[in-house]
Amino acid sequence: MWTVQCARCHQIATYHPTQWRCICGGPWEPPRPLPFDHRAIRPHRPGIWRYMGLWPFQRDPITMGEGWTPLIPLSAIDPRLWAKLDYVMPTGSYKDRGTVTGLNALREMGVDQVMDDSSGNAGASLAAYAARAGLQATLFVPAHASPGKKAQMRAMGARLIEVPGPRAQATAALLQALETGGIYASHVYNPFVLLGLATAAWEIWEQLGRAPDAVITPLGHGMLFLGLFLGFEALQAAGYIDRLPRLYGVQAAACAPLAQAFTAGLEAPAPVEEGETIAEGVRIGAPPRGREILQAARLTGGAILTVQESEIQAAQDRLARQGLFVEPTGALAMAVWSQVLRETDRVIVLMLTGSGLKSLR
Ligand SMILES: [Zn+2]
Repeated sequence: MWTVQCARCHQIATYHPTQWRCICGGPWEPPRPLPFDHRAIRPHRPGIWRYMGLWPFQRDPITMGEGWTPLIPLSAIDPRLWAKLDYVMPTGSYKDRGTVTGLNALREMGVDQVMDDSSGNAGASLAAYAARAGLQATLFVPAHASPGKKAQMRAMGARLIEVPGPRAQATAALLQALETGGIYASHVYNPFVLLGLATAAWEIWEQLGRAPDAVITPLGHGMLFLGLFLGFEALQAAGYIDRLPRLYGVQAAACAPLAQAFTAGLEAPAPVEEGETIAEGVRIGAPPRGREILQAARLTGGAILTVQESEIQAAQDRLARQGLFVEPTGALAMAVWSQVLRETDRVIVLMLTGSGLKSLR
């Protein structure tokens, strides 16, 4: 039984793969707070599956050992700064953390083919796990996506449909195709993706032996941001931490609907045109979970910030000089950390989300 709740109207329902969102239009999420109990942790299980005892999976999952990524100090830059290397994953991006729980849940429901729209990393991740599970994946990608990411998806047997124009056109093309059937295994709408992404918070808490003061993450659709929020919320609800870390999301100034809404004090983002940015992973003009992301940022005392292209490039170079080779999107957290630092902070964690090998030009 996979129970979900609408993030907007709060209706509780049994999840069915063909009903990928609530009839009110809101996205489903797992019932909150997520359960957490340290006694359920099984450290001998690979990656995120150390937390499997907290989830309703009935079958042995398809896995490639994703998760339990390194958390390392960046003391050469600042003694308070840490990096969570979430690009150290089977397909080279943090997406695997959520793809694996999302796809395994659908698999338990009997799904044998899946569709998604992606600018690259989510598609590559879904292609990999679908291949491993023996499912057919069809991916709608913007034609402007990195050649490396498209090659990665094709190599793993996914059917690729390249859609010209902005990222939103890929979503529109998928929704049109969905009218004649298929299962939308959306990395944004599938609520069970959030289960996996919440483990990023749990890992950080276990690895540090405490909650950090702040976590900074790139922000496009905001799934990692929400996953971190759900994870820390679960730790707080179960009494393991006193307060939530401040969560900061970083958008490219060229495409920043959430930062604009945050600054203007709005409850929901207004769609924006997708401007050009080297941070292609966050080039999202109309994030469906925007309302929930704004709530989470405010509740934790965090914020949503923007950075210019030159700052993204500089942050990428700075990380590379530390031996950390990430794609431009993966460097966004590095670009803002000194702005959010407070005098009392002891630990700030940067989420490094995608490998530099993804975006070689
Ligand atoms: Zn609803």
